[in-house]
Amino acid sequence: MRKGTLVADTTINPAATQAADIWSDALAILHSSTLSAREKGWFEDVVPEAVFGTTIVLCVSNAEVQQTLQTTLNESLMNALRIASGQEMFPAFKIAPAVEERPAAQTERPHAKPVRHEERTPEVPSAFDPYAGRTSVQGQLPIPAMIPSQSFESGERGPALDPETHLNKNATFDTFVPGDSNRFARTVALAVAEGSGQDFNPLCIYGGSGLGKTHLLNAIGNYALVKDPTLKVRYVTSEEFTNEFIDALQNPSQSQGRIAEFNRRYRQVDVLLIDDIQFLGGKEATLEQFFHTFNSLYQASKRIVIASDVAPKNLKGFEARLISRFDAGLTVDVKPPDLETRIAILRMMSGMNGVTIPNDVLDLIAERFTENIRELEGALTRVTAVASLSNQPVTKALAEQTLQDFFTTDVEVKPSDIIGQVAKYFHLTFDQIVGRTRTKNVALARQIAMYLSREMTSISLKDIGDVFGGRDHTTVMHACTRISDEMREKQEIYNYVMELTVRLKQRSAE
Ligand code: ADP
Ligand code: MG
Repeated sequence: MRKGTLVADTTINPAATQAADIWSDALAILHSSTLSAREKGWFEDVVPEAVFGTTIVLCVSNAEVQQTLQTTLNESLMNALRIASGQEMFPAFKIAPAVEERPAAQTERPHAKPVRHEERTPEVPSAFDPYAGRTSVQGQLPIPAMIPSQSFESGERGPALDPETHLNKNATFDTFVPGDSNRFARTVALAVAEGSGQDFNPLCIYGGSGLGKTHLLNAIGNYALVKDPTLKVRYVTSEEFTNEFIDALQNPSQSQGRIAEFNRRYRQVDVLLIDDIQFLGGKEATLEQFFHTFNSLYQASKRIVIASDVAPKNLKGFEARLISRFDAGLTVDVKPPDLETRIAILRMMSGMNGVTIPNDVLDLIAERFTENIRELEGALTRVTAVASLSNQPVTKALAEQTLQDFFTTDVEVKPSDIIGQVAKYFHLTFDQIVGRTRTKNVALARQIAMYLSREMTSISLKDIGDVFGGRDHTTVMHACTRISDEMREKQEIYNYVMELTVRLKQRSAE
């Protein structure tokens, strides 16, 4: 086994286990579908290798199988993967001819095929999907076009949210690397979690995107529950809080009862963790409701922890009375981590995934990504995924290449390229993106295309509106705000945008 290369051994590799699990479920779904026996037969050839973010690497024995799975059977495959994984999953094909099945299956699942070990010789490079891959500028490293960016918590299918508390059980103090940038925040968070931080109520944690605020909120909740499992802990984003409140208001005939039930639910909570509070700004009715919830918890000495992207005093669209309530507790910030902390974070993340990454690669990534731990994590995932997809060890050269592809900013992209690429990515047509359909998936794809047009071109909002079927510039602006907000809250949206950015940059660099 080459050092630093992901191997498809499910005993040590969660990415492989996850692929085997998802594929086993997908196969079961395909088997029970209305496809003919002959069509089902094509899937028998597939061996899952690994999952990286929203990409599942599937090995097939020849180009014909790949071709069939990407055309006539594509829809069935995508559907099965979506249902099996609970999210949009994109297959990346790897042609690996004449690979013998290993007798010892690495999975206990009944209908999953054994996952192959890394036994191909480096002299026989595996063929790449011409659609998903390309050869790098230097013609050395095959780089897949779709490089996943999801969080490095792979092993699990997405963040494992508890249905009751809504906590992500993976975000704990154990997995939170301390450094000068976050030490104080971590210390007080721990005190609040232990129940010894009465003076810090409410605790407000603020700081830029991707610096660990959500992680700390979850760590507090998880730890508080370890100490006292009888506690009622609730993690909620301000978006969820708003939606729950609006839902309660929805049906006028029952709304009194439903508001009462909403109040009861929130006022029973012992530890309320509310994330991204800045999004409540200007939402008067929701803020009013929040003010009451806050007061009743506060008066009952229940713990309240708030995360925000700005200091409470700088929150926009909040009444002074609420801000002064926040100020009554303790406000701490999280800052971008220094180099040593970034390296320590990368080391922990790769360790958690059972991958050894050479130090020079960790240094390179840590030097390149200074402002956002989510991006640091994304870069590590990309580099590891590319190495695995191309059967190469993780080396500095490969990391340089991967990151360069992703971060070349001076490539010229046209809105029509963006629309074309977004359409292809979401399995829609160009006309649907610029058309009037309002179905959820089309609307999302359209907004992402608008956002990318704004980010990747120098064209004005008005001109972008024109390209998108003569829409008003305010529509484009709204789409941009919405997507940039959602990217911060939803990993899925972040992944879409990142993956599309990579594809577009690679296409235009060709
Ligand atoms: P924020 O809420 O501030 O935008 P998150 O808490 O979502 O940021 O952090 C972004 C990613 O970085 C998450 O995957 C999180 O687990 C990880 N992360 C942040 N800070 C740390 C840290 N100190 N140690 C380890 N991982 C961290
Ligand atoms: Mg957050």
